[in-house]
Amino acid sequence: MTFALHGVGVSRGIAIGPAHIIQRDQIEITEYPVDGEGVNLEIRRFQKALTQARQQLRAVREHIPRQTPGDIAAFIDSHLLMLEDSALTVEPVRLIREMKVNAEWALKLQRDALIAVFDEMEDAYLRTRKDDIDHVVNRLQRILLNHPPLRHELPDNRLAGYVVIADDLSPADTVMMQGEGIVAFATEHGGPTSHTAILARSLGIPSVVGLHQARRYLREDDLVIVDGNEGVLLVDPDEATLEYYREQQRLEKRHRAQLRKLRGVETRTRDGTAIELMANIELPEDFRQVLAVGADGVGLYRTEYLFMNRESVPDEEEQYKAYVKALRVMKGLPITIRTVDLGADKPMPHSRNEGGQNPALGLRGIRLCLREPGLFQPQLRALIRASASGPLRLMLPMLSTLQEVEQSLELIRTIQQEFREREIPFDPDMPIGGMIEVPAAALCADLFAERLDFLSLGTNDLIQYTMAIDRVNDQVNYLYDPLNPGILRLVHEVLKACEACGKPVTMCGEMAADPRCIPLLLGMGLRSFSVHPGVLLEVRKVISEMDLKEMEGFIRKASRKGGGFPFHALYERYRATLH
Ligand code: PEP
Ligand code: MG
Repeated sequence: MTFALHGVGVSRGIAIGPAHIIQRDQIEITEYPVDGEGVNLEIRRFQKALTQARQQLRAVREHIPRQTPGDIAAFIDSHLLMLEDSALTVEPVRLIREMKVNAEWALKLQRDALIAVFDEMEDAYLRTRKDDIDHVVNRLQRILLNHPPLRHELPDNRLAGYVVIADDLSPADTVMMQGEGIVAFATEHGGPTSHTAILARSLGIPSVVGLHQARRYLREDDLVIVDGNEGVLLVDPDEATLEYYREQQRLEKRHRAQLRKLRGVETRTRDGTAIELMANIELPEDFRQVLAVGADGVGLYRTEYLFMNRESVPDEEEQYKAYVKALRVMKGLPITIRTVDLGADKPMPHSRNEGGQNPALGLRGIRLCLREPGLFQPQLRALIRASASGPLRLMLPMLSTLQEVEQSLELIRTIQQEFREREIPFDPDMPIGGMIEVPAAALCADLFAERLDFLSLGTNDLIQYTMAIDRVNDQVNYLYDPLNPGILRLVHEVLKACEACGKPVTMCGEMAADPRCIPLLLGMGLRSFSVHPGVLLEVRKVISEMDLKEMEGFIRKASRKGGGFPFHALYERYRATLH
């Protein structure tokens, strides 16, 4: 019988194939007592397993394909380091000796103790470390129990055509699976920046994460459909469902071929107005796609990835190198680099702040940066230095007050003055902009625009704060509606304010890529969009089908009706007349 499991789509597309299930975390461990020579035997067995695990990981390390994202290799190195750490080398031996138990049990006790410590810390970064402990401990347990290597770890493994289903993929898994011909990934855990998501996007295959307990309902070789667009995993589909998705695959293939023709093409509306179409960058891997599709630049470079999955803040030099590299890769096209927006759904590993009861309303983005100079200063210095190497635009996230702008500008000017005195090169005209994500800032966009060189509408947060819904809470996401008249009014006001004072404005939230919103945004006067490179060609296509005059006329008419909106209902009626 067909059934569906719902998660989060992190890499688009549809795939159909048999399931290969990685059952790694369900190793049953039993305790048995040992004594006398038995204790020494267990210790030797444990030490042999350590050696073997190190050899396995070193072999994986040596076979990393060239295109593998750098952070995957770094994770394997960190697993190798864990296999040298006394927590995993000395403690289990002590437990075997003192408790007189088998090696597997001692290792399990030590694993539970380590996880309990991490659990108490309640920090999302440390949850990643928890997963790492499990990956390493499971590898040791499989060796101790003489379990056969996992199918995907065999050198002659053939996983071509399979959909891989796992709790989460370990970095070693991701390396082993490259070039295997896997058609999709589906995992129980993970988010858009998990290894699974990174790998799926770089391989260009569909992927859904957050499918809680999926493996409980699945058996090896069950036929499944992964719908990365909708974030759904369909199990045991009937013939009609299969036919429907096969047709969707055919349509997608044709559609993708059509879209490819728009690579490198200038973005213009049907009536010939040029529109700026830039890309959002979340990870360095995205740059390849940005160049392939021919974006006009980067409208949002999220710097959070530089700060995550590590124990300390990246220093000025490391950040400087990353920004200069980005400028070089983009070959003279402008890059808008956003200062780090940690907090809320992007937890801050290195801050003492715990986020409070409502982290989305707490110390995040610019608030956190202004509070913690150790976080903000090295980034500002790195960005200002990097501005000498290319067209860099600095962007401040989550602004709510003008004081935050003044304070940030003051810090920037002070650093620029110091560099001037020390003859450190920088671009004195580097544009400094701010994100409009908080309703209070949207309502005073004219005041923010006066003080800044450009504005960018961050609608992901603007919708969250205007609709009073947590953007990561499944229970209220039905209210997450960019077409809500309240949102449309706010966006329109920001666009009008920028037009009135002649300051450029971009939209870099997901709303900019929503085909239902693009015509309205054009009609309201938006001329600069920044979207994920994976959807950029689609956005270019929608824009090219729009007649600007028609949309402007429609918005004018809609704005007059009843003294304002709702755009949405009027727009639906308008769309109906087009078909
Ligand atoms: C936004 O809020 O719209 C935005 C682009 O920022 P982020 O999604 O990174 O919060
Ligand atoms: Mg935001």
